[in-house]
Amino acid sequence: MTMTVSIIGAGLGGLALARVLHVHGIDAVVYERESSRGARGQGGMLDLHSGTGQRALREAGLVDQFHAVARRQGQDLRLLEPDGTLLLQEDTPDDAPLERPEVDRADLRNLLLDSLPDHTVRWGHAFTSADQDLLYFADGSSATYDLLVGADGADSRVRPLLTDARPAHTGQNAVELGIPDIDRTHPGLAAMVGRGNY
Ligand SMILES: Cc1cc2nc3c(=O)[nH]c(=O)nc-3n(C[C@H](O)[C@H](O)[C@H](O)COP(=O)(O)OP(=O)(O)OC[C@H]3O[C@@H](n4cnc5c(N)ncnc54)[C@H](O)[C@@H]3O)c2cc1C
Repeated sequence: MTMTVSIIGAGLGGLALARVLHVHGIDAVVYERESSRGARGQGGMLDLHSGTGQRALREAGLVDQFHAVARRQGQDLRLLEPDGTLLLQEDTPDDAPLERPEVDRADLRNLLLDSLPDHTVRWGHAFTSADQDLLYFADGSSATYDLLVGADGADSRVRPLLTDARPAHTGQNAVELGIPDIDRTHPGLAAMVGRGNY
């Protein structure tokens, strides 16, 4: 008898798990509330460290594809006080080892999506609840499952099935800003920010 592994959430975690299972001959179904892979902008960049994020990609057999889209030169780091005082500056040479290269979230997600068999991801399935036999979705549909994995992000709908713990806002917010074609449109700003995190 084959077991139906159901993963809620086609983010990086859910897709990486589905891919690693696939490499080991176990196919999973991933339910994602977004209607398609392009339905929402995926945000900016991630740095993937060699022992953690990159390790997951090695286990997934995707490290060469990752290197093809990763930006080695994106490893620069500058830390500043709010008044602009420079606290730390690490400029990495162009041939630096791939310790924590930057990658566009959308590129990484596409890489994982393209590595899975067709129809692994069921788009437009917003999970609402589960009982012992069935998963329930916001559109009124349901599906059978044997093993349920919650990979539906910080505000998970799966987590309350296991625990009363709830995420709490820390009181701190982060703002991410993107300037398209910055090297051409605002070269001074591009030079100030550098090639990594500022
Ligand atoms: C500002 C910021 C910067 C970061 N930088 C880095 C970095 O540089 N390097 C790094 O490794 N990590 C970084 N992280 C952390 C990283 O983004 C997360 O660890 C990662 O996205 C978690 O992946 P996930 O798949 O668990 O969840 P998510 O990426 O949140 O994906 C969850 C998925 O579940 C779907 N979903 C949600 N609810 C439901 C539902 N009810 N039914 C069906 N689908 C649902 C969502 O639509 C989404 O597709 C950063 C995080 C933030 C906020």
